[in-house]
Amino acid sequence: MHELSLTQSLVAIAEDHARRAGATVIRSITVEVGELSGAVPEALEFAFDVCSKGTLAEGAALILRRVPGHGRCGLCAAEAECGELTAVCPACGALAFELDAGRELRVMELEID
Ligand SMILES: [Zn+2]
Repeated sequence: MHELSLTQSLVAIAEDHARRAGATVIRSITVEVGELSGAVPEALEFAFDVCSKGTLAEGAALILRRVPGHGRCGLCAAEAECGELTAVCPACGALAFELDAGRELRVMELEID
């Protein structure tokens, strides 16, 4: 499962931050999940339960923030949300559509003690 390795690195990043802050426990981890990241939220939640065992994040709440896909056309400057990875502008059809949101998968916030 793709999400398992993704979640392992998210937990590692969170633990690293928490340790540097001198924390002994992570209460919650807020993660931004782009709709175009390829990660399935349900699978992330499942993987988190497995990956967080024995870490500072064990028992922490995983808060997932969905980020819709969004892009801008380099030719006609149209901005649009998009539900798939594409380079085709929905307004003018040019192959100049550049995604600027929706592919992220990153730790945004930590609640630690
Ligand atoms: Zn366009």
